Amino acid sequence: MQQIITQGVVLNAFDYRDADKIVTIVTPEYGRLSAVLRGVKKVTAKMKFASQPFCYAQFKLVGGWDMLTVAGATEIESFFDITQDYRSMVAGSAILEMADAVSVVQQPDHLLFTGLTSALRTLANSDTDPDVILMRFALGVFKITGYALNLKNCKSCEKPLANDLVRFEVGTGELSCIHCSENDFIPVSARSLEIMQNMVKLQFDELEKIVLTEVEINEFRQIIRANFKLRYNRDLKSFNSLLEIE
Ligand SMILES: [Zn+2]
Repeated sequence: MQQIITQGVVLNAFDYRDADKIVTIVTPEYGRLSAVLRGVKKVTAKMKFASQPFCYAQFKLVGGWDMLTVAGATEIESFFDITQDYRSMVAGSAILEMADAVSVVQQPDHLLFTGLTSALRTLANSDTDPDVILMRFALGVFKITGYALNLKNCKSCEKPLANDLVRFEVGTGELSCIHCSENDFIPVSARSLEIMQNMVKLQFDELEKIVLTEVEINEFRQIIRANFKLRYNRDLKSFNSLLEIE
């Protein structure tokens, strides 16, 4: 029987047997893992916190790869404040869902893990607009999975992207100018483009000054949702709630 000690963030949990839960954890060294939390639904359970999404802890896991069990968990940092504000919580849930979609079982991904914990930390501890954090995380994910958005040039004619003449192509997941644009697109306003060009140069803790209007928020959410469908074949459920918030 092996023993794994690793940091991890709980992405989701579901009921298993009478008193247990199965948690999905994303880790830097082992990618995405599932593990049983025994007896966690009992009133006296000590590791209840480890069954909550956003839990960032040091985990001790035992067993085989087919059935790991959580033998211990110690909280590293609390992201609890994310759940105290509705918009933060929905954005945070979307970030967890994105991490779930792109993480791979037993495949190390230090960049994804660092991006995830930085995004959640900023969401929990700062006044940064949750949608700024969401878009910055998404742009990072596109980059580390090999689908970086080219924010400078049209994908077809390669002319510099500028003004209000930019579109996100749903069929290719790229930005194009209005002349090269195809049928199915999401408009990208001049300000949205400028904000994206700016935010990719910044760390999560440097995003606080970016202010979004409804226009950018709406364009960003649509771009993320469309690109996750195209690139990772994932229909992000949390975006249904996100797109309903006004
Ligand atoms: Zn073009």
